[in-house]
Amino acid sequence: MNVALADRAQRAAKPPQHLADLSEPERDSWAESLGLPRMRARQTARHYFGKLERTASCMTDLPAAGRDELVATLLPPLLTRARQISADGGRTVKTLYHLTGGAAVETVLMAYPDRITLCVSSQAGCGMGCPFCATGKLGLVRNLSAAEILEQVRLAARACQGGIFGGQKRLTNVVFMGMGEPLANYKALTRAIAGIAGQGGSGFGLSARNVTVSTCGLVEPMDRLAGEGRPVRLALSLHAPDDPARDGLVPINRRYGVERTLAAAYRYYEATGRRVSIEYALIRDINDQAWRATQLAAKLCQYGTGWVHVNPIPLNPVPGSIWTASRPSVQEEFLRRLAAAGLSVTLRDTRGADIDGACGQLAAKEVVRTNG
Ligand code: SF4
Repeated sequence: MNVALADRAQRAAKPPQHLADLSEPERDSWAESLGLPRMRARQTARHYFGKLERTASCMTDLPAAGRDELVATLLPPLLTRARQISADGGRTVKTLYHLTGGAAVETVLMAYPDRITLCVSSQAGCGMGCPFCATGKLGLVRNLSAAEILEQVRLAARACQGGIFGGQKRLTNVVFMGMGEPLANYKALTRAIAGIAGQGGSGFGLSARNVTVSTCGLVEPMDRLAGEGRPVRLALSLHAPDDPARDGLVPINRRYGVERTLAAAYRYYEATGRRVSIEYALIRDINDQAWRATQLAAKLCQYGTGWVHVNPIPLNPVPGSIWTASRPSVQEEFLRRLAAAGLSVTLRDTRGADIDGACGQLAAKEVVRTNG
């Protein structure tokens, strides 16, 4: 095996099983299989989810004899912090973690006046191959386990509790908009959502309504998620209203097409009652023409205007890429046309543009450093 292949194989190494990978009954069975009473798994889960704790010495309700081994088994270390940088006057904090095997993932924590939002990664790299995206250039290294996703949330919630944003101490929102296509890692995604929104000893207690799953438009998993009975918000990265442009920007479109993708997004709205966000990265001279805004409005409005909210976002360019952000006047006209059609539209801010804000940029640099 050559060096690059060996390096990739090592990065793809699977993480150890963790308590947060399992449902409550599965945790009970795991404890029993280790020769422990079920209540040990429940006590440990209460520390992990309720107190955001994984240090054995803090879990004084567990018997001292064997406590370290118990915690090391049920809550093995999953993420190692490699780098952390902040921007926007300290209101945006980006963290690079190494996983078991050494693959890198990122989170971005953002404080707003009324909420704190964490952007999590669901895969190391991504196999969807969108050409304007730093993560897409890495290819898929591997899926994250549910516990690896939940550990990103726990560490961020602890940082908030510890005062990383001063008096604002509660993590309120989680968005799956970091590295990876979350619907391509469906089982871990839904297990992670259960852990984020679960109450008491079974989750971090956030509202499922404050969780957003972003997808490039995998139709069957979108329908499956609609049937899960959890009111999470769906964000569809559309980026073009027509197949010729979208086929180039979001290659999975060649399988589904824009019409089928939008129909699935509308079914999601019908099933959950949650307004769908349409994400649209405005890329100069590629998808930002005024006629495309008119076409986008027409395609969305075929289902009415109340089901959807459009979020155009100026492209955060990947270094060395030919793609760049739209001119401000073009951007304005694009938004004006959508609003004129009666659609609700907000230009999304580009948090962390000065810290490699586009998803995957820190990790992409990490790969360049490692391989170079
Ligand atoms: S834009 Fe999203 S789906 Fe496309 S390659 Fe990047 S991470 Fe993957």
